[in-house]
Amino acid sequence: MIRLLGGVAALAAVVVAVVLVANAAVSGAVVTRAVTAAVDPGFVPAGAPLGQIGTDPGDPDDPWSAAAPPGGVILQTPGPSASPGAIGTLRVPLPKNIPIGPRRVGIQVGHWKTDEAPPELTKLVVQTGASWEGVNEVDLNLDIAQRVAVLLNSSGIAVDILPTTIPPGYLADAVVALHADSDGVGELSGFKMAHSARRGPYEDALLNDVKTAYAKATGLDYDGTHISNAMRGYYVFSWTRFQHAVSPFTPGVILEMGYLSNDDDRALMIDKADVVAAAISAGIMRFLSDTPRAKIFEKELVVPAFPSRGPLPTSTP
Ligand SMILES: [Zn+2]
Repeated sequence: MIRLLGGVAALAAVVVAVVLVANAAVSGAVVTRAVTAAVDPGFVPAGAPLGQIGTDPGDPDDPWSAAAPPGGVILQTPGPSASPGAIGTLRVPLPKNIPIGPRRVGIQVGHWKTDEAPPELTKLVVQTGASWEGVNEVDLNLDIAQRVAVLLNSSGIAVDILPTTIPPGYLADAVVALHADSDGVGELSGFKMAHSARRGPYEDALLNDVKTAYAKATGLDYDGTHISNAMRGYYVFSWTRFQHAVSPFTPGVILEMGYLSNDDDRALMIDKADVVAAAISAGIMRFLSDTPRAKIFEKELVVPAFPSRGPLPTSTP
């Protein structure tokens, strides 16, 4: 279970790229050029504002100030010949530290160690997750995550079990965030999945592979009607809002494994935790075998920039 982080993220101070050009007065002298940031004129360093206020497609009610992720981005605004509605693009350079060695997967445990969250995520501190009939969601999430890690390890996959605090710009071949839901009354059943907007091209594949394996192994229905903005806007994947988010290159999805508040769903997740974990692991393995690392980190990402906000509405009597 997750709720959206409200409000506008605090922005780091603007870092201005300084270009010092020391021109010698004497003709023919060497020109020294010291460049303290990337030379592209549109380069925006990590944490600096992207110069636009956007509206999150996953949460239209919550406008925020976007900031560049670790590594920075290149902002390309529409040229003078662009069509009136053009919004430009964000180019995300390839990370300098692309993973090497065995395939790597991050399993994020929803609500785990939330009290250790950094200041930009302080609103998460109050989100302790669902609880039902004495079962706490965070304990369930951690149990399943550890089982998934054992299974993936046995297939030669390196696994990071991630708490609430994500290493800034975390790089892996896939990240799956685990949660369990509650409807507060015990009626709803099923699992849900989502990924964010403005990310890489492989998240639909990751979602579909895990979804297919999960439905088949658990027998749970897919509850497509209760996928929330909080899921689509999940902070772990929101690299334009938080530094403590996975890299835009890291394919990532959130899985609400079932309703803790539903007797059957809860029994499945607790009594058949090995089945649940095997399903998640199988979906991830399918994705990894279909999606080579060389593809995930093949070229820079180009995603739409943010629409600039129109004039604020005026109050009408
Ligand atoms: Zn949760």
